[in-house]
Amino acid sequence: MLPIFDKIFIDVVSKNSEVADRVRSLYPKEIIFDVETEPFSDLKGTMTSDEFNQSKRTLFLTEYKGHFFKRCPGATQKKTLTCCNYHVLNLGSQCNMNCSYCYLQSYLNSRTTKIFTNIDQALAELKEMADLHPTQPFRVGTGEVIDSLSLDEITLYSRKLINFFKNYPNWVLEFKTKSNKIDQFIDLPGAKNIVVSWSINPPHIINSEEHGTARFDERIAAAKKCRDQGYKIAFHIDPMIWHPEWKENYSFLAEEIAKNFSASDIHIISLGALRFQPEQRQMMRERFGMQSMVNAAEMFTSEGNKMRYDAGLRSEMFQFMQTKIRSLNSGFNIFLCMETPETWINSFDKVPMQMPELKQIFKPLPEVR
Ligand code: SF4
Repeated sequence: MLPIFDKIFIDVVSKNSEVADRVRSLYPKEIIFDVETEPFSDLKGTMTSDEFNQSKRTLFLTEYKGHFFKRCPGATQKKTLTCCNYHVLNLGSQCNMNCSYCYLQSYLNSRTTKIFTNIDQALAELKEMADLHPTQPFRVGTGEVIDSLSLDEITLYSRKLINFFKNYPNWVLEFKTKSNKIDQFIDLPGAKNIVVSWSINPPHIINSEEHGTARFDERIAAAKKCRDQGYKIAFHIDPMIWHPEWKENYSFLAEEIAKNFSASDIHIISLGALRFQPEQRQMMRERFGMQSMVNAAEMFTSEGNKMRYDAGLRSEMFQFMQTKIRSLNSGFNIFLCMETPETWINSFDKVPMQMPELKQIFKPLPEVR
């Protein structure tokens, strides 16, 4: 089923783009409008809950005016967080799915879901960087402020990116998704440097907190299909959410991964715990109510001014998962996402640079613009 939009606006600068042509072929013309300026750009300030909901159903095709290729926000907090050298390529913003904890609730202030139509400029930037640093193991992800694949049947950007990255085997491309939208590229043979990854939680959490996303079994099935086509797979068990039955539910998740995938199928398994900006708490409560499991344990202001579980609980959750996963298959590479050196030590007894399997990923790389 296609993503649902009530209205689609096409910026004059994007009217001849491939994405605009495709949108016109997929959606009824009654909901498509040509515009010369960004819709609702006169509305300033923080969005209300209703405006945020509506922004998920209002699509705007436009061009991105800045520099596409950036370091992950974790790199800007290097003094407090351990950075895994991730780079992001934002080909749009906002998401058509609806997770209770989504950080976009405090990050975005645009009343539309944007797709940037100038992907050729993004590829030109990547080519310039790749030609400058062909041997550096850059990891590039497209799922920072938009899901990498949930709108991909509209854009088909995955196909362009896969074909591009096959020419740069030292660079790794990662699609990060909670959807099961893979059919639009699955006919392209995979490559070792192309990782299709799923943010995943136990079914109990997915059903309660990750609205509009692919269900647990659908994500596992999509991952198996990608694996069978030669793609590398990754799982981000993130955000781990505390709830009374967390140990049973996260054990089930680890067992399902180990049952369906070998260590050689999986590029990485990352662990992260629930975190969000304090200012999004009100919107989360208005949109998902107090029954949401994000309210199940106390949170404290922590690194990067984010609300997190206390350090002891985070380490307990990470240690538990690490031990469980390793007991099922000691070959999986596991790391922590957006965590402090102290949490690494308390959870793993080491920081990544002391771990041979992770050293290459965390080794400092040259700065890009
Ligand atoms: S899938 Fe990701 S971007 Fe989309 S709502 Fe959930 S957390 Fe936010």
